[in-house]
Amino acid sequence: MTLRKLAFLYAALLMLSLAGVLIGYRYFVSIPNMVATIDDFHQRELVTLNSALKKEISFLQTMNYDYAVWDESYEFVTKQSQDFIDENLLNDTFVSLKIDGIFYYDLNHKMVWGRGFDYVNKESIGFPELNLQTNPALKSIFPQANKTASNIPRNGGFILTKQGPVMFSATELRHSDRTGDPVGVLVFVRKVRPGLIKALQEISQLNLSSHILSKRQKQQNIPKLDGKLYGETFTYKRQRVIENPSGEPVILLKIAHQHGEKPQLFDKTTLFTIALLALIPLSMLIFVNRFIVSPVTKSARFIRRMVNTKYFHHLTPSFKIEEIKNLSDDFNQLISTVNEQRTALEELVLTDGLTHINNRRAFEQFISNSWLRMQRNHQPVALLMCDIDYFKPYNDSYGHQAGDNTLVEVAQALNKRINRSSDMVARYGGEEFALVLADSSTQNCEYVVKIVLETIRALNITHQHSKVSNRITISIGAALSSDFSVVPLHTNYEQFIKAADDALYLAKERGRNRAVKVNFIAPSNKSVFCQEIT
Ligand code: GH3
Ligand code: MG
Ligand code: MG
Repeated sequence: MTLRKLAFLYAALLMLSLAGVLIGYRYFVSIPNMVATIDDFHQRELVTLNSALKKEISFLQTMNYDYAVWDESYEFVTKQSQDFIDENLLNDTFVSLKIDGIFYYDLNHKMVWGRGFDYVNKESIGFPELNLQTNPALKSIFPQANKTASNIPRNGGFILTKQGPVMFSATELRHSDRTGDPVGVLVFVRKVRPGLIKALQEISQLNLSSHILSKRQKQQNIPKLDGKLYGETFTYKRQRVIENPSGEPVILLKIAHQHGEKPQLFDKTTLFTIALLALIPLSMLIFVNRFIVSPVTKSARFIRRMVNTKYFHHLTPSFKIEEIKNLSDDFNQLISTVNEQRTALEELVLTDGLTHINNRRAFEQFISNSWLRMQRNHQPVALLMCDIDYFKPYNDSYGHQAGDNTLVEVAQALNKRINRSSDMVARYGGEEFALVLADSSTQNCEYVVKIVLETIRALNITHQHSKVSNRITISIGAALSSDFSVVPLHTNYEQFIKAADDALYLAKERGRNRAVKVNFIAPSNKSVFCQEIT
């Protein structure tokens, strides 16, 4: 698992949990609250509708009462006089009262007088159902006898007739001063017209339509309109019935609430909020990526490359996080230490333990490089092999420690003398030293040879057992390669060393404390020019 993947995973989990909390809150808290509020609102609308309907009935009842509690009506039901009809039950009466039927009954439910007249279309209409003798089922429109005399029994509601559903009002007849025994009942009816539904709609702010119930709908037990919700599951469309006094459904009201689409789990606001919430993990991801993941992965890549190339260097990314910065600084410190130790180790590997000048390994590296440069760039190169004369007798007589000291002294003296960057001094082995003069002319080579001979003599180290002097001397075999026409490409530096060694042998043979210089040419060419320098 990479750091980047981990950061992505964390951001995704955070995003999911934030969205989960939001959706959970909406599902378990917010939506139920909204549904409860909307249900409450719906119930108020139903209550308003119910009261509006009762109000309509009560208007009809008021007019009905005015006619029922009236001396002339009271008399009319017992002795029907044509005068009363001619004066009070005219077509105009229907029109002015806005009613479609007036019916007088005696106490035996017998219709004494009755007439239907459509006050809108102004035509006679029939209400055969209101003949209670032939249709006793509708006797229930009669008001219940009231025990307290102060309240005159009356009834009101809806019934279904041939003319469709109608609103009715029934009041027991009385004298105008509300006295007298019950003699009959006066009933007014008014057809349920679209105007009524429209008025109810305006008051209740509901979308309404009224229908006659089909047989199937009658059996469906649709709740009656009384302002209650009846625990229906959340809906903005519902049905209610208006019943007749016997409790049979007469009118089906189809109701649509204006507000009340069920709140969606994922509405625009929720989606927008989720999108906003997504910005939190996203910005965190960008931040973490910018300040942690990127620099760390970049550094990890650098370190891997260092391990592969074995070339160690400092980390360069700039870290803004304190801990990562410290880690990087410490790592860089470690790299510095490793590099220092590596340099020290390399020096140690290339340095002679006794004399602290270059050892034979360093010499081999240097001469091979110089030889390549000579071949490629035609840079002349000279090699001086120096060997202390009669050093065995020196050791034997002055002791090994004195021998070591002398070796150190000779080495340091040579090292001091040879200070051009293109030159080098090395301890070749035992009491033998090698000097490489890269880019050296013939004159310079001879000059250096003389200087070296003189330098060692000038040390003036007593050597009573030397057969050539009473102080330490050296012999030098010098080889110079400057004539490139005679140095074939296939020659190698070992052959060059051999040539210097041979020259050293010659110098020893010729008496020591001297140098023999040869110009290096291909080993097959025997005519070696040899020059002696003392
Ligand atoms: P020549 O003039 O022919 O070179 O005679 P030489 O005695 O110098 O030559 P030889 O090769 O016979 O002896 C070299 C001596 O150098 C042998 C050894 O005692 C001495 N020697 C070599 N390495 C060391 C060293 O590290 N320390 C000491 N003290 N002596 C060494
Ligand atoms: Mg020797
Ligand atoms: Mg020697």
